[in-house]
Amino acid sequence: MLEDLKKVVYEANMMLPEYKLVTFTWGNVSAVDREAKLFVIKPSGVPYEDLKPEDMVVVDFDGNKIEGKMNPSSDTPSHAVMYKYFEKVGGIVHTHSPYATSWAQSGRSIPCYGTTHADYYYGEIPCLRVLTAEEIDEAYELNTGKLIVNEFKRMNKDPMAVPACLCKNHGPFAWGKNAVDAVHSAVVLEEVAKMALRTEIINPKVEPAPQVLQDKHYYRKHGANAYYGQGNN
Ligand code: 13P
Repeated sequence: MLEDLKKVVYEANMMLPEYKLVTFTWGNVSAVDREAKLFVIKPSGVPYEDLKPEDMVVVDFDGNKIEGKMNPSSDTPSHAVMYKYFEKVGGIVHTHSPYATSWAQSGRSIPCYGTTHADYYYGEIPCLRVLTAEEIDEAYELNTGKLIVNEFKRMNKDPMAVPACLCKNHGPFAWGKNAVDAVHSAVVLEEVAKMALRTEIINPKVEPAPQVLQDKHYYRKHGANAYYGQGNN
């Protein structure tokens, strides 16, 4: 079942070590089939070099395993909630990539200091609060997903305009319209996190880029008047 999507998800997972976003087994990618209301995710704790497309696990939006020999990723309930409520999201990535995780551990959102950031994310990349003891004890991974969905709603942020966030004391989640797009967001997030840290080291008093410049770069690539690339040819 969903054999083509398993191949896509396998290949997207293999992009994580290729782009140096994961150490050992830290990280996971999933992708959804909206018609089937199912998603495919990496099995938990299997070294990337041992993974095979047929090891990918099929799961429903309540996190129940539908098909697969192995246990799905431990973060499956977080992905499930996000697919349920972020209706345009087609792929999700979680990693412990070091620069993004350093911002998450520091409890700081990543300000938009320049156009590299503005090309991909509209405004800061938010760092969400740490879960309460009750939330952690009750259903840690499920409540992580609920926090992401609820905080984006509360902040009135469109998840497709800000396709990433940081979970305090934990690490980043990134997403996109499909699995490869989600990995792309995770790679850009790591680069932006690295640049923002260096920017603050070079100039501790640095301010975010002017809003007009942020808007120019974001809307060059997104929305009805986008003109970046070859799409209008
Ligand atoms: P899984 O191998 O269960 O996907 O866990 C990876 C990880 O990064 C946990 O946060």
